[in-house]
Amino acid sequence: MIEFAKVSKQYSRDVFALRDITLSVQKGELLFLAGPSGAGKSTLLKMIAAMERPSSGTLSVNGQSINTIKPSGMPYLRRNLGLIFQQQRLLQDRSILSNVMLPLIVTGAARSDAEKRARAALDKVDLLDKATSGPQELSGGEQQRVAIARAIVNRPQIILADEPTANLDRDNANKVLAALKSFHGVGVTCLISTHDEQYLTGADRIVYLDRGRIVDGWHNGVSHPVE
Ligand code: ADP
Ligand code: ADP
Repeated sequence: MIEFAKVSKQYSRDVFALRDITLSVQKGELLFLAGPSGAGKSTLLKMIAAMERPSSGTLSVNGQSINTIKPSGMPYLRRNLGLIFQQQRLLQDRSILSNVMLPLIVTGAARSDAEKRARAALDKVDLLDKATSGPQELSGGEQQRVAIARAIVNRPQIILADEPTANLDRDNANKVLAALKSFHGVGVTCLISTHDEQYLTGADRIVYLDRGRIVDGWHNGVSHPVE
């Protein structure tokens, strides 16, 4: 479903964010992308959403080439993706319910239908009781769960979550991961990045990145390239 073949990403003359990434992700897989800050995790996830293009190598997502995707192909690609990225904040002047309805409203859903589905999505992250609250009334962990509800309300086939546990205490981080894992449980493909080793449990697979390369793990904090 996601196929990276020898993908590199060079941002500038000496900044290689990814080098020679070959990785294939199967439908329904739960994959952790682990590695220290700057390893290339965000870049890898952004590429799947065509927010960045490969500098070399090929990437395809659901049979669509990211190398050659045209602006007209973007809505179709994105409809199948649920994105949870740091920079996508909740709209502060709207209720939680309205924030979660938004992806449906912009794709032309009827209000009553959008509201019903948004409530179902909030229920899945256990926040239905906060539907009429504003984002500022919620804790960081709750806001992150709202972001998950917003990302899944369109029933995407793939969820991409970039450091969803950043800035959360252990309890809230575990709740956020449990919410993500529950979607994996119903067949959604999930890619979750983290720099925090303690959360690397319950995945089908862990892919370690270090300085843009896939490595075979963290050995006492030191990673070694896979030969
Ligand atoms: P991670 O998510 O693992 O912290 P990133 O993918 O954000 O890693 O970054 C990988 C490398 O690419 C870092 O050296 C970072 O500074 C660089 N980088 C990321 N985005 C850009 C950009 N838009 N322009 C230039 N360099 C970037
Ligand atoms: P309904 O059919 O009434 O919308 P569901 O329980 O089938 O209720 O779904 C509830 C919510 O679960 C959906 O509105 C959606 O937000 C979320 N969801 C997202 N992706 C999926 C998926 N692949 N399978 C099931 N539910 C999903």
